[in-house]
Amino acid sequence: MIVPFIDLKAQYLSIKDDIDSAIAAVLDEAHFIGGVAVKTFETNFSEFAGLSHCISCANGTDALEIALRALDISQGDEVMVPALTWISTSAAVNQVGAEPVFVDVLGDERTMNPELIEEKITERTKAIIPVHLYGLPARMEAIMHIAEKYGLRVIEDAAQAHGAEINGRKVGTFGDLTTFSFYPVKNLGGYGDAGAILTNDEELARSCRMLTNLGQLEKHHHQLIGRNSKLDTIQAAILNAKLPHLSRWIDRRIELARRYDSLLSGWDKPRTPEGFTHVYHLYVIQASNRNKVMSQLERGGIGCAVHYPTPLPHQECYRYKGHQLGEFPVAEKLGAEIISLPMYAELTEEAVEQVVACLSEMD
Ligand SMILES: *Cc1c(COP(=O)(O)O)cnc(C)c1O
Repeated sequence: MIVPFIDLKAQYLSIKDDIDSAIAAVLDEAHFIGGVAVKTFETNFSEFAGLSHCISCANGTDALEIALRALDISQGDEVMVPALTWISTSAAVNQVGAEPVFVDVLGDERTMNPELIEEKITERTKAIIPVHLYGLPARMEAIMHIAEKYGLRVIEDAAQAHGAEINGRKVGTFGDLTTFSFYPVKNLGGYGDAGAILTNDEELARSCRMLTNLGQLEKHHHQLIGRNSKLDTIQAAILNAKLPHLSRWIDRRIELARRYDSLLSGWDKPRTPEGFTHVYHLYVIQASNRNKVMSQLERGGIGCAVHYPTPLPHQECYRYKGHQLGEFPVAEKLGAEIISLPMYAELTEEAVEQVVACLSEMD
């Protein structure tokens, strides 16, 4: 049996009628920008996230950029970001003219190491963007403590962590603003690009709303230079059809992770701190002989991937910063050893057993 790394078609087929009629309804109404579907999604997703305002936008990268602009972060400012994350987290900082400052991650949890933040704070530091990487919440208590001590703003990058919690409290409810992506493979994904910014702060919500819509709250009244970053109506309809299933899909991911955990004895597996709810956007193991492990999986017909092989400070686009190998030892080691295994709600127990059987056949 082939076990693909991801199977978006399986999920579509499991709710095909709902999706097809949601799309058909948009076509029938012929209201292609905004409309009821977008409003409904904003209302329902803010309820899911436990935050009072949801401003939808075109994708998760725009969401980060808009959140930064809403906090007035620009030229001359510095923003802390983890060394191991998807490029959007730091690129958004550059996009507003500010400078990302990379912080190494925790070896076990792979999220930003709070103990390394303070030594990098300067008078230019304005904000921290912790990332709930792979679906595991970052150490928000420690990060918020530092933010309060130094008067820094916090944007949570929850693109990979819809529904993740710390002691029953949802991610996104700790910082000033939180951003989500609904890129197709995310825990809640559209059939194209989509994103959102959420907050409990009414002023910030207003700013985000203006920034996504060319600076206007009222038509033809442009209060600032904004951008055009909208959640597509068809994507909103698809997300509305999927949202009622999200909690069940998350539970299923957790169940599959437990199965991997129990079968993968002797492997370096994801670790979850006490009280943290990991929602397993990705199930990431670690091996010093990664190439060999990945070839073994490929030979066994099992899809796998690396998220992410090169820590951001060592990407070509950040060469200008002059970072040297060895400056981010934990992210560098993870970059060389991590492997993401198949993980999605439609994965079967048998498929998980096959992945593990393939790994245990290694000599
Ligand atoms: C996916 C992702 C984003 C960006 O989302 P897009 O919708 O693809 O722009 C940002 N941050 C992280 C950590 C992500 O995984």
